Amino acid sequence: MKNTLRENAEALALKTVLGYINGKDPDEAIAKVLEWVDRYDEKEGTVAKQRKLIHEVLGDKDSNWYRLVKSFWTDIDPEVRKKTFENFIINATILGGRRKAEARKKYGCNIPWTILIDPTSACNLHCIGCWAAEYGNHLNLSYEFLDSLINQANEIGTRMFLYTGGEPLVRKADIIRLCEAHPDCQFMAFTNGTLIDDKFAEDMLRVKNFVPAISVEGFEEATDSRRGQGTYKQVEKAMRILREHKLPFGVSCCYTHENYKVIGSEEYFDWMIDQGAKFAWFFTYMPIGVGSPTSLMVKADERAYMYDKIRAYRKTKPIFTMDFWNDGEYVRGCIAGGRYYFHVNANGDAEPCAFIHYSDTNLKEHSLIEALQGPLFSEYAKHQPFSPNYLRPCPLLDNKGALADMVHNADAESTDLSAKEDVDDLTAKCCEAADNWKGVADAIWQKTHPGSPL
Ligand code: SF4
Repeated sequence: MKNTLRENAEALALKTVLGYINGKDPDEAIAKVLEWVDRYDEKEGTVAKQRKLIHEVLGDKDSNWYRLVKSFWTDIDPEVRKKTFENFIINATILGGRRKAEARKKYGCNIPWTILIDPTSACNLHCIGCWAAEYGNHLNLSYEFLDSLINQANEIGTRMFLYTGGEPLVRKADIIRLCEAHPDCQFMAFTNGTLIDDKFAEDMLRVKNFVPAISVEGFEEATDSRRGQGTYKQVEKAMRILREHKLPFGVSCCYTHENYKVIGSEEYFDWMIDQGAKFAWFFTYMPIGVGSPTSLMVKADERAYMYDKIRAYRKTKPIFTMDFWNDGEYVRGCIAGGRYYFHVNANGDAEPCAFIHYSDTNLKEHSLIEALQGPLFSEYAKHQPFSPNYLRPCPLLDNKGALADMVHNADAESTDLSAKEDVDDLTAKCCEAADNWKGVADAIWQKTHPGSPL
């Protein structure tokens, strides 16, 4: 779906800033972008809080944030930099945001900022604890299905798409084709990195709207023991190829009871930065799937350790970090069920979240709007946030029974592709962790948000 005439006119006005982004001198460019943000928001003041924050963090040329932003001028291809800004800020956030607000009113349901899609259940690795490892190698969403889903999403303002799987780059030809067909959208992928080669990097440079996040479990021994011998070296090779082509990329880390100390170490953060990563996602291990062990789940004090470490590095390290659970405070709790995002598995089932494998709507048979208006996503919309303490965002991991109630109320079914998992059995695996985290999370919340309800 193309921009409307009004949106085109607005996009054109907004694109003046792209000239600054293209400037050769990063110091001058950053100053001009800051001036532009002020001018753009002068009348509406809708992002006044964010503007203040941007000025604070970018006002200090020695700060880690200034160094990170500046590295986009030294490390990244100028055309890719420009396209990423255009799609992420202008198309997905500003123009898409307006369209989403209209759609929310019109359809009376959550409208997501992004959709996470499994284009395939196939994977070239077989990692311990990964649900995709058990899926087998037979499910793929067709190019036509993916194209139609993206078109439907564009209609309601969603222009940001994340791929996972399986290993999404098993479908790299279709992924590049979709980037070409939808130049106004931004695409990202969680990938094991082993299929990134020079040819793919050339394709990324050509389309300019695809950014990978490479999964790493720590250093060589930990990565290879979970993902297979030689994987770490392949990951370093993929990062080198991306660096040499001046392409942006990030890292995706799953922290467990066994590796959290390494993932939270300064040495590991410095390694990611040295490799050239501009951002890092942190996920904690969840015992999803029949038979998956609970022993890898972090204890409450280990989760708190990651909370402290990631926040401390945010003040010093030039890398943008997102902690999927512990950052609930910045987005008012759970973002699933279409509130900010939802997940489409390789069978086309619309699931509230990548970690919640239950659904009542298959997108091969129903439209995107029908999925968003469906019983399970409506249950999410009705009950979010699941706790006033946003450090306890999750209806599975943090709020005992909340997910099971919604799944039962919606009459949703297990969509686990290897073996159906009863939601009460899944809940039982997470109860102890939820109880233990409550005490720790409430103490942090009271300290950081005095007077806020628990
Ligand atoms: S359901 Fe849980 S894991 Fe998924 S977005 Fe919500 S809080 Fe996060």
